Amino acid sequence: MKAIRVQSFGGEEVLELVECDTPSPGAGEVLVRVSAIGVNPVETYIRAGTYPLLPSLPYTPGGNMAGTVIGCGAGVEQQWLPGDRVYSASTRTGAYAEYAVCAADQVFPLPDIISFQQGAALGIPAATAWRGLFIRGGGRTGERVLVHGASGSVGQAALQLARAAGMEVYGTAGTDEGLSLLQQLGARVAFNHRSQGYVEEMKEKVAGGFDLILEMLANVNLERDLDLLAPKGRVVIIGSRGRIEIDPRATMGKETDIRGLSGFACTSEEMARTYRAIGLALEDGSLVPIVSREMPLAKAPEAHRLVMQSGNCGKIVLIL
Ligand code: NAP
Repeated sequence: MKAIRVQSFGGEEVLELVECDTPSPGAGEVLVRVSAIGVNPVETYIRAGTYPLLPSLPYTPGGNMAGTVIGCGAGVEQQWLPGDRVYSASTRTGAYAEYAVCAADQVFPLPDIISFQQGAALGIPAATAWRGLFIRGGGRTGERVLVHGASGSVGQAALQLARAAGMEVYGTAGTDEGLSLLQQLGARVAFNHRSQGYVEEMKEKVAGGFDLILEMLANVNLERDLDLLAPKGRVVIIGSRGRIEIDPRATMGKETDIRGLSGFACTSEEMARTYRAIGLALEDGSLVPIVSREMPLAKAPEAHRLVMQSGNCGKIVLIL
């Protein structure tokens, strides 16, 4: 089969397209013929060797793909059947390939109304959004939520899921296309995080502050977020690409919380709950993943370059 292999950590050029053996599913595993692969920012940090958790070399990147089950290992024949359409939360052998082996509880049914490309955009982004809103963030109906960085894959899912839960949703984007997308997705107000006075504008338009902020770039925004929170508000750190200095006193007067989130810290109980909720949201149409760009598997290096740029407004997907 064709797959992307990384022999040493480094720049995009270490993503090489190679021919290799098709993997076989062991006990408790399924083999999936991959149709589409979601490209996530974390895969660039891992490829560069800068992420705290690194795989042993060589490895095939990627956790999120969508495709068709073609084989089942011992013990899962009752759970999955050849021909089932699925999407993955993670894989055992890497998603950037024609075939991937996954633990049977790391794949989920893909409803017929969701394309493989859209299915590849679920996984990490949708699960992160749901956990950020409802598990780490403790979000409740009627609360005011700011998705700080709502035009990206996690942010779009968060906007949709928060709206469906009856929350009052606000979002930020850095381009005109992103701002109009947020409005289409139901943001009450879309703010431009590249415009000078946008924090002041938020304070004016959302008097009382936000009960919950999902933060995609904490190293830039955390200090401002603390100022924007309502009393007892929470900020959930989803993305951060560097350091920031804050005054801890800013959490005291309003008794606000700063909460971290990592997909790697998700328990199996949280995971089951999260993916059940995502399944329901896909079925009732409240969650519709948005794909911004499709590229062939061989273009994985270009996909890694693009995913780190602003203005993507949706998921970059590699297709087979
Ligand atoms: P993405 O699709 O590339 O989206 C990035 C988002 O960040 C876009 O909405 C972008 O807006 C926004 N952004 C850019 N500059 C910003 C600023 N100054 N303030 C606020 N937002 C800004 O990435 P993603 O998949 O949604 O992931 C978002 C971040 O969360 C990434 O850093 C990723 O590594 C991280 N993440 C963490 C976890 C976890 O487990 N903790 C899981 C998934 C993702 P424009 O493009 O419109 O400027």
